[in-house]
Amino acid sequence: MALDAVYLETILEHYKRPRNMERPERWDAHARGSNPACGDEITVFLDLEGDRLQRVRFEGTGCAISLSSASMMTEALSGKSLEAAERFRDSFLELMEGEGAPEGTGLGELEALGGVRALPARVRCATLAWEAFTEALRRVSDGQEE
Ligand code: ZN
Repeated sequence: MALDAVYLETILEHYKRPRNMERPERWDAHARGSNPACGDEITVFLDLEGDRLQRVRFEGTGCAISLSSASMMTEALSGKSLEAAERFRDSFLELMEGEGAPEGTGLGELEALGGVRALPARVRCATLAWEAFTEALRRVSDGQEE
């Protein structure tokens, strides 16, 4: 593994004690993502209050990278406006898939996943929950969520 020990510790801590990992009784939007290459399956649930994400939760199974990314994502996005959440997501995707490692991203613990860039086959593990989040947002704006 090319991950720094301190980063690995953050990832494993979220993997062992995932935050907001539960299927809610109700939600305003949800979407499921899967990464067959690794066997990761994550469903993201959004509770909305106007244009604010009141709470983001998830359920699923997968590797340490996919589940810790989902756990950190729910903590980071809960309470943000949709606009701020999308900006935050774009910063994270830039960290994972962009040309150079952005400095001072304000991503907090999620910066731990930046080391996964050294493991190209695992980048999708880190971005899976964010893909599901993006799809859930799209359903909100398209009015597709029942
Ligand atoms: Zn994975």
